[in-house]
Formats: sequence, C-alpha cells, structure tokens
Amino acid sequence: MADKEFNAFKMAQEQFDGVADILNLDQGTRELLRNPLREFHFSIPVKMDDGSTKVFQGFRVQHNDARGPSKGGIRFHPQETIDTVKALATWMTWKCAVVDIPLGGGKGGVICDPHNLSMKEQEQICRGWARQMAKNVGPINDVPAPDVMTNAQHMLWMLDEFEAIHGAKLPGFITGKPVGMGGSLGRTEATGYGVIYTVREALKELGIKPEDTTASFQGFGNVSQYALQLYTQLGGKTICVSCWDQEDQTSYSFKKESGIELEELLTITDKFGGIDKSKAKDLGYEVLPGDAWIEQDVDILIPAALENQINETTVKLIKDKVKIISEGANGPTTPEADKVLHEKGIVVIPDFLANAGGVTCSYFEQVQCNMNYFWEKDEVLGKLDVKMTAAYHAVSELSQKKKLYMRDAAYVIAIQRVAQACKDRGWV
Ligand code: NAD
Repeated sequence: MADKEFNAFKMAQEQFDGVADILNLDQGTRELLRNPLREFHFSIPVKMDDGSTKVFQGFRVQHNDARGPSKGGIRFHPQETIDTVKALATWMTWKCAVVDIPLGGGKGGVICDPHNLSMKEQEQICRGWARQMAKNVGPINDVPAPDVMTNAQHMLWMLDEFEAIHGAKLPGFITGKPVGMGGSLGRTEATGYGVIYTVREALKELGIKPEDTTASFQGFGNVSQYALQLYTQLGGKTICVSCWDQEDQTSYSFKKESGIELEELLTITDKFGGIDKSKAKDLGYEVLPGDAWIEQDVDILIPAALENQINETTVKLIKDKVKIISEGANGPTTPEADKVLHEKGIVVIPDFLANAGGVTCSYFEQVQCNMNYFWEKDEVLGKLDVKMTAAYHAVSELSQKKKLYMRDAAYVIAIQRVAQACKDRGWV
C-alpha cells in the first residue's frame, strides 16, 4: 500500500536484480522477469445505497505465467497502488515456483475501504471486478483468491458473476471459497502447518528432536495458532506468543515458562488474534512488552504477524540459543537484519518458502474443483507435507552446496525455474 518512501515494486525488482546477477541471466530474460507480462486497470461503477454512482479503480497484474495460470489474491484497500499489486504479483511468481506448483504469479486489487461500504455495495464491486476481467481470468489462465479485506463471500460473488457470464459452472476460477461451495478442507490449517513442516525438516538436519526444543511466536492469528498446534503435536514447547492490543494500540507478549496450552489460550482470544490481558494473568501468564517474544532463550523463533519486525534494532535482542527462524509472515526480516542472522549461522527459512502452504493448498482447491472431486482433510494435508518437505530440501541442499544464505538459495531456485520455463517456451 502507499508509503511515500517505500516502493514495494522497486524492492521486488532490486531483489530480482541481485539474484539475476548470481544466475548470470541474459539481458532479455532480466527485462522480461523484472516486469509483469500484463497489467489491467479498470473502472467499476457502483450504484451506492444513497442513490449516487461511485466509480472504483480496479487492478489485476499477471506477472508471469510461463509455468501455469497466474495465481494470487485480490485486495480491497483505500491505499492500494498499482506498484504494490505489481510487487505482490512478482513475489507470487517466485512463491509458486519455489514450491514447484504449476502456477505463475498474479495479484489484484480495488481501491476501496470495505469498512465504509454496505454488503450490497461490496457485492457490486465484486461482480463489477469479475465482469471487467471475465475474458482475462479463469481456471486455465488466472485464478484469484482472497487477500487483505476480502473473504470467502467476496470470492463467491465473483464466482457467481463469472459463471453467469460464461454460462457454465467453473468453480476452479477462484479459490478461498467456503468448504461445501468448492473450498478445500485443510486450507485453514495449511499456512501454519506448512511453517512447521519446514521447521521439522530443519531440526532433522540439525540432528535435534522437536521434543527437546522450545519456541516463541510473534502473532497469535491464523498462521500462528495452527503452527503452534502442530509444533506442540510434534512435542515442542512454546513459551511465548505476542499479539496486538486494539484497546491500548500496542503489542504485548504472553509468557508461560511451563509451556502454552493452545486450547486454554484460545478461550481468551478474540477472532482477530487478540489475547485478553487480565484473563491471561489469571491463567498464570506473564504479560510483557511487545518485543519480548524475540528475546526469549528458545531454539526457534516464528514471526507470524507483520513485515519489518526483525530489523537492525530487534535483531540484537535475539539470544545465542536460537537456531531456526521460520518466517510465517510476509517480509518480517529487513536486509540489515538478514546480514546479522547470516553471520550468526541461524537457519532462516524465508517467507516465500515457509508460508507457501497457503498457496499450495489453494492450488489443491483448484485441482479438486477442476475434477469436481474433493479430498478428505488428511489427504490434503498429506499432499501439502510432501510439497513443503521437498521444497525445503531443495532450498537447503542448494544453500549448503553453494554456501548461499537460505533466502538467496530459495530465490535462485524460483527464478531459475521461471527463467527456464520462459526459455523452453521460446520467449527469450
Ligand atoms: P491474522 O490477522 O489472523 O493474525 C495476525 C496476528 O498478528 C494477530 O494475533 C495480531 O494480534 C498480531 N499482530 C498484529 N500486529 C502485531 C504487532 N505489532 N505485534 C505483535 N503481534 C501483532 O493474520 P494471519 O493470517 O495469521 O497472517 C499473519 C502473517 O502471515 C501476515 O504477514 C500474512 O501476510 C502472512 N501470511 C498469511 C497467510 C495465510 O494463509 N493466513 C499466508 C501467507 C502469509
């Protein structure tokens, strides 16, 4: 979203340029991959509840589809910009490639604030978006999904409009639908579980048993809760989680040295992942400042809240005991902090690998929809484990073989796969 100094697309291009140098990519391939293949800008007129007509600005960017249909969410946000959408579409290309699913990268958005729109007005925006893009998206060329401030209901409205236009049932057009309406079992768990599949593999490589480890999490929302659940099942002990406090407009950490019990903590957590401070004290938690999660004497740190959380300042708080950081959130570590973590020899499982369980499960949703046959939850999670485990090892092996930082190794694999697909197709 808009920020005067920060341009996400510029950052995505700089990251790409660095890896293009490592890979020694030719000029044509660089030019192709540092920009989106296609971007759509369009107007969505909406009859507002007060009788007036308001025109909303919509976007869709298809960064690259050499490996398969573009895939990526649609965001509703008042400060949405085309450059943010372009950056996110680029990152989706690398994310799909690193987990080796046959999809490219896309992203969409509408400049609007759902807080100030009725459900009827939001429905019209969704239907308008689908009408504007109907000829350029679909199960075989570009598959949208929910993102910031969009949910399963928005996806269903878009699907309904898309199917009406095409006169056919095409549930594979969009993912993130409710279970029973074409959604996949396991999607809720997928991102958090994926984070822990990668942690489990990293521990194996280090020769450490999960039951001999402790962890601390930033955030206690969807990703964090399911990651904590699986980590506990594997025998690990979580001693600290943090969250945002809406009332105080600051974050707090919640610590229990004997180990957090997920079910108990969920009873005092709201639907936004906010924990009740006074009830937490009654349950024996120490309530600490927001940054306390990062300075715990643990083996594993899992940032699963926001971007820019492990930075030049906070990286100094990390204890020597920490061996693994698995990035549940997108962009939690700054390049300055990366340098320190690299020097310390901490295994950093980068965001676009660690949190790729979500998009992998969305791919499974699309596959199930296209077959019109839906798998049991165990089957979905089993397939997810296979994909995440293979992706982790491909990155880890390259990192060890070429002495590359894990983030660079992941980028090298992803960009190389996409560059190769462009070459094989004769595009470059
Ligand atoms: P969520 O909204 O369910 O939970 C976010 C959690 O972070 C909440 O507990 C909130 O209180 C906490 N939080 C917010 N600001 C904080 C702060 N300053 N300090 C400490 N805690 C804070 O979100 P989520 O779906 O769990 O997503 C978390 C991160 O993972 C985001 O970066 C998101 O982009 C990324 N991600 C999510 C998915 C997914 O499938 N949900 C997939 C890929 C990446």
